[in-house]
Amino acid sequence: MDVRAQMSMLFHLDKCIGCHTCSVACKNLWTDRKGAEYMWWNNVETRPGTGYPTGWEDQKHYEGGWSRDESGKLRLRLHSRSKGLANLFFNPALPEIDEYYEPFTFRYQDLFDAPAGDDQPTAVPISAITGEEMNIEGGPNWDDDLSGSPIYAANDPNFDQVAADVKAQMDEIERVVFNYLPRICNHCLNPACVAACPSGAIYKRAEDGVVLVNEDKCRAWRMCVAACPYKKVYYNWSTGKSEKCILCFPRMETGQAPACAHSCVGRIRYMGVLLYDADRIPEAAAVPEGDLIDAQLDMILDPSDPAVIAAAKASGLDDGWIEAAQASPVYKFVKEWGIALPLHPEFRTMAMMFYVPPLSPVVSVIEEGLVKLDLPPEQVDFERFENLDKARIPIRYLANLFSLGDEEPIRRILRKMLAIRIYKRRQSVDGVIDDATVQVLAEAGTTVEEAEVIYRLTTLPTIEDRFVFPPYHREMSQEAIYGDPLARKGETGLGYLQAPVRGA
Ligand code: SF4
Ligand code: SF4
Repeated sequence: MDVRAQMSMLFHLDKCIGCHTCSVACKNLWTDRKGAEYMWWNNVETRPGTGYPTGWEDQKHYEGGWSRDESGKLRLRLHSRSKGLANLFFNPALPEIDEYYEPFTFRYQDLFDAPAGDDQPTAVPISAITGEEMNIEGGPNWDDDLSGSPIYAANDPNFDQVAADVKAQMDEIERVVFNYLPRICNHCLNPACVAACPSGAIYKRAEDGVVLVNEDKCRAWRMCVAACPYKKVYYNWSTGKSEKCILCFPRMETGQAPACAHSCVGRIRYMGVLLYDADRIPEAAAVPEGDLIDAQLDMILDPSDPAVIAAAKASGLDDGWIEAAQASPVYKFVKEWGIALPLHPEFRTMAMMFYVPPLSPVVSVIEEGLVKLDLPPEQVDFERFENLDKARIPIRYLANLFSLGDEEPIRRILRKMLAIRIYKRRQSVDGVIDDATVQVLAEAGTTVEEAEVIYRLTTLPTIEDRFVFPPYHREMSQEAIYGDPLARKGETGLGYLQAPVRGA
């Protein structure tokens, strides 16, 4: 057993309000620079929708991630060694700028210089790349809240095998349902970006699993951009280097949550350590499709198991990291309660950011000017398991996002969350916990005690409950590299300061 630690984030999708505060916090901190205008290391997509860059989930087009061949071997979908060489100078799988969007700013000076007239002057949009005037035809969240149009929803690739009548229902504008999907780099255990880089410039940090680009080594081949199935590596046209989410490692090293998580208004984000067995990665990434989720979750180890603790210590993890793993909220959601899944496990990169699928919104219709639940009137108690399909975004759609189209794991999770909702409603509205309520919990595979803990961590967590960071002991690695631990005082995390230069 080769025990390693991964800093992992959990997104509780029921709580995301689509405010984009996370994206803006990240943008202002990391990508507010020349060449990075179009980059959103964190973005929030309205679902159903086509996302950013457009249609990123369609790997027939983008050729990202891994596939399993007939002999059971794992292969990069992008290329073999020889195809990689052939495509070195022209890679057809690379997204074009229009698939993200052409970044723009406005000529604000027009507001001041416009001659006196009857009309209000407007600032003309200009391209941030060419400086020319342009018509804005896209943006990072162009289909935000569907922008009043079902077009984006209709083109969502996750509608595969969603029944036509359900799809038609969702296309009706008053009945359309949507939820939000925040996305960052998944800091995968089997990252396709790392495998595809011909220069060896991308690597996964040993201490916390953060995937980083060494900009000194990056030679702008951009294979990482094409190979990442989540499209979370970006090419900076100004510096000629690739860039990606760094999970705010300089903040984590000082015990602070990443900017997106810290600023999250809905408090949907949780962070903690997961321990995993690195020996099992090759085998787990290559299992048949139906076994992928179990194989990935099985690799995550119980941090309270004495055998795991002993192996973790043997691998160099200190008590602080092991204790942080034991207190990890992500471990609770993913392993103890089993209500979180990775996004698109079929990409086989073993994404290490996890999502609690959304139970809300409940579908409503407008009748006679009143908003009503889209349920038969005789069923006033809409919170019944039979109505799971009726009362929310289609299960099949969520299954296409999180469980390779298998509806069973999604149903299991939603039943559990629904049972907790019924339990809390009985407790707070009726003031009783009767046998029927306990029975509902039992049917959903949970108990009063567990329901209470899940409720508390979901609705009333303190910042210390949400973010559990281990002591990074940067002083020890500094000492190992520089000898004197005080030699780099004040330079936490960043290490060296020269800017990346094109061609270097
Ligand atoms: S999500 Fe991140 S770690 Fe995973 S393949 Fe993409 S860039 Fe690499
Ligand atoms: S800040 Fe939080 S609630 Fe707002 S969009 Fe981002 S993840 Fe959702």
